[in-house]
Amino acid sequence: MPDLPSRNDWERKLARLMGRYFQEGLDDLIDALYEDPDKPENLNNLTQEQIDKLNDWRRDDLVEARVSLRDALQAIYLEGAEGEVNSQPIGVDWGLLNERAIRWAEEYSYDLVKGIKRTTQRSVDEALTLQRELRETIPTGFEAGVTQRDLRRRLSETFGPRRAAMIAVTEVTRASVQGTMGFMAQLRHEGVRVVAIHRTNKDERVCPICKPRDGKPIENIYQEPPLHVNCRCWVTARVVRNE
Ligand SMILES: [Zn+2]
Repeated sequence: MPDLPSRNDWERKLARLMGRYFQEGLDDLIDALYEDPDKPENLNNLTQEQIDKLNDWRRDDLVEARVSLRDALQAIYLEGAEGEVNSQPIGVDWGLLNERAIRWAEEYSYDLVKGIKRTTQRSVDEALTLQRELRETIPTGFEAGVTQRDLRRRLSETFGPRRAAMIAVTEVTRASVQGTMGFMAQLRHEGVRVVAIHRTNKDERVCPICKPRDGKPIENIYQEPPLHVNCRCWVTARVVRNE
């Protein structure tokens, strides 16, 4: 079967979700650090109150986003499975497949959110460190500091739409592939011998990493797409007939 029929819709939906989260995250961070929108602040001397706000932002963010992500991932998983189910002569217990989807989405959404948060924290830390270092090299007597605009600019990639879109593409691929893999696991459970085959788009989106894998069997979890950021590959099931 071809790639996920509603891939574009899912990509847009996840990108919107992440984009909104990033925008809110950045606004909260800036609010925590700057009381006066136009006044530069010396981030070397954060007050305890500011530090507390910053820590709160880090603790609470992504909680709501995880639930929305989980629900979307679960639906994509089932859609990825459904496409394969329809193209195979052998059916599986849809209830059990649905349980697999729920379990996978619940577990994976935590990993995903943790990974996103780690990257985000690292870039916030780097930005703050850099700003502190810059501050220290500025001769005293100058009215200088780190403005909101400076910090926003520095963090624009981490919290920007480009990163949100990349996460969306990659995670739609993952959930859809996991759905197909779940369907195959279910087939194996019922005694059917089945092999997963890597499939790529034969257009400009095909990358040097995935192109050589096209049509090849997937032998371990490290070969399951996505194999890189922005990977749009998928897998199909090949039933091995008993001779
Ligand atoms: Zn790929």
